[in-house]
Amino acid sequence: MEVLAPRGTRDILPDEVGVWRRIEEEARDLLESFGFSEIRTPLFEHTELFVRGIGEATDIVEKEMYTFSDKGGRSLTLRPEGTAPVARAYVEHRMFSFGRVQKLYYIGPMFRYERPQFGRYRQHWQIGGEVLGSDSPSVDAELIFLSSQILKRLGMKDMEIGISSIGCSSCRRDFKTALREYLSRNKQALCGTCIERMERNIMRVLDCKEEGCKAVLQGAPSMLEYLCDDCSRHFEGVRKRLSIMGVDHFIDGHLVRGLDYYTRTVFEISYRIREGKIALVGGGRYDSLIEMLGGPPTPAAGFAMGVDRVVLALGEMRGKDERPSVFVAAVGEGLFDVAFRIAEGIRNGITGISVIIGDEREPLKKQLREASRWGAKLSVIIGPDELRDGSVSIKDMETGDQEKVAMDMVLDRIRRKAKGDEV
Ligand code: AMP
Repeated sequence: MEVLAPRGTRDILPDEVGVWRRIEEEARDLLESFGFSEIRTPLFEHTELFVRGIGEATDIVEKEMYTFSDKGGRSLTLRPEGTAPVARAYVEHRMFSFGRVQKLYYIGPMFRYERPQFGRYRQHWQIGGEVLGSDSPSVDAELIFLSSQILKRLGMKDMEIGISSIGCSSCRRDFKTALREYLSRNKQALCGTCIERMERNIMRVLDCKEEGCKAVLQGAPSMLEYLCDDCSRHFEGVRKRLSIMGVDHFIDGHLVRGLDYYTRTVFEISYRIREGKIALVGGGRYDSLIEMLGGPPTPAAGFAMGVDRVVLALGEMRGKDERPSVFVAAVGEGLFDVAFRIAEGIRNGITGISVIIGDEREPLKKQLREASRWGAKLSVIIGPDELRDGSVSIKDMETGDQEKVAMDMVLDRIRRKAKGDEV
């Protein structure tokens, strides 16, 4: 029986990889231009990290984790997100003692046992940035600016940026009381999960996608009305800086995020696609996470961008231009050594080019057909004539023109022709 990729995972085939690489390269370039450095954490962690970090009563921890015991009996979990691992590494390596704010970024796969659908996979990729050690509203604004800038550089327009503040634990207390009162009055319209959530983690109700619950939530109190003075001032600070940076955004008083560690600023960048809206970026501030993981009190904020979804949003946009390729066709058994030497000479002598060697046992016609299938710009032909007078023929595969070139001029001719440097 055929073995297929597991449900919710897929292969990124070579045709599509160009777009992925372009996204990664733009993101790296921009992140590094803002002072971020890359960090690579393991793909699996102790389960406890996510239970403590993300929160027990969240969808991710309750339903979506790939958790397993290894042969040593440890409970491990494939990372469902990147912030808790970065925070863990920050504490483990005592980066708080490095004397300055840390700006870290990561690129890699995340694993969530979710119901697969358009733009939702069980393995998806995220590009994330984290700033640890500052409570300045400038950091929040910069993260929003930066993540929207990555999308803009990729050519995306019309993203929607929603922001809110979910305050600190003290202002959230009053809000939760008000929300509980409101939801109790409308309990009959809520789904079973939300009725349960009201007891376990009432903020999660705000995130429910059920139509009935969404209708109830329209009239729910907004977190923004309950912010304490400090949180309110912080939120105003973020908005002021966003307007200085020219970032269009709207306030979404019901915005919450699926992870418990957020405090104060939360934001989401979404995009309209196929009559729906998908979230491309999510992020916010998490001032208590580092302490929860055993570090000193350390304010922090971050964002995560879903690469799979950015690829969908970019649609048919082409990726990086492929390298021009050259096909080496030696004709005659025993000529592999000549073909190999010429190919290596081109690879080592000309950067940004790819060289494919034909099967020297095949006739020229067949090899040239193969060259066309590769989309080769040029073919280097070595047959009995060429061997005799120490030359090769170079065939332009687009025009069909062919010329004989002395061996010591081969690189020069190819460089000019294949790389379009001809004057
Ligand atoms: P989150 O960690 O849930 O805030 O996710 C950050 C971003 O990752 C989202 O805005 C999405 O773009 C993307 N994302 C999250 N879950 C998935 C998934 N299951 N499949 C594809 N992309 C996802």
